[in-house]
Amino acid sequence: MDYYDFDDNNTDGLAEKTKIDLSEIQSAVLRILQAIGENPKRNGLKRTPERIAHMYAELLSGYQMDSAMVVNDALFDVKYDEMVIVRDIEFYSLCEHHMLPFMGRVHVAYIPDGKVIGLSKIPRIVDLYARRLQVQERMTRQIADFLCDVLHPQGVAVVVEALHLCMSMRGVQKHNARLTTSAMHGAFRSSPATRQEFLDNISRGASPLQI
Ligand SMILES: [Zn+2]
Repeated sequence: MDYYDFDDNNTDGLAEKTKIDLSEIQSAVLRILQAIGENPKRNGLKRTPERIAHMYAELLSGYQMDSAMVVNDALFDVKYDEMVIVRDIEFYSLCEHHMLPFMGRVHVAYIPDGKVIGLSKIPRIVDLYARRLQVQERMTRQIADFLCDVLHPQGVAVVVEALHLCMSMRGVQKHNARLTTSAMHGAFRSSPATRQEFLDNISRGASPLQI
């Protein structure tokens, strides 16, 4: 079994051209500031609409990423049919119900069928789907489906563990509630032993998620 540990959130080199309407976001934020009774002209807030517009362009850049570019030149024909696991890929996303962050870790495994993908591409695939307005369940499935589509492997498994600020900051305030979602395809779905091998691997030495 191959084992790789990822802890970075490296996105450089990605084609991230923004088509987000920055001036429209700025005027919307300005109206929010007025609506909550703030003075948008005071020093600390003067550039806030502009900062938020640029922030959304960055946090939501997944819409503009070209998925073909993400895997560009990184698919290799290799005779290797053991499980490949990339665990602890850090991610940050925004929940689409509240536009508040949810963040945590993604663990990905696949069993190749003649094709492997460059390892540095897997965190980029995660970003491709994390940097959008999301629900965790859909993001999990999209990452798994994308890998199925490009690799046609014998199986793909994706597990996402995340903390949602909309749960921690609002309402019932469950500060440490974690949500775990998974998507299993092929061998990971049909073979309990294969699935268990993956789950055992990602729980080995795992530390609890913390903000
Ligand atoms: Zn939410």
